[in-house]
Amino acid sequence: MAFIKIDRDRCKGCYFCIEFCPRSLITVSEHHNALGYFPAEFNKEENEDKCTGCKTCAVMCPDTAIEVYK
Ligand code: SF4
Ligand code: SF4
Repeated sequence: MAFIKIDRDRCKGCYFCIEFCPRSLITVSEHHNALGYFPAEFNKEENEDKCTGCKTCAVMCPDTAIEVYK
């Protein structure tokens, strides 16, 4: 069981994390952030049991906006 935290105001909306999450657990927010981008988001309640903590999302993120908790 693991989860990630996405710093929505660092996210520039490249969606690499969405593309590379092997479990497809990351989605796009409906609300833009302070920079005007629609950030990636992770629903902890729904996905905590599915996230393996593989860190692929955090490694792929060019803006170091993702932290992984295991
Ligand atoms: S990889 Fe990082 S910057 Fe790109 S969408 Fe995901 S959280 Fe945002
Ligand atoms: S740690 Fe792995 S499984 Fe969890 S959200 Fe990131 S890429 Fe997906």
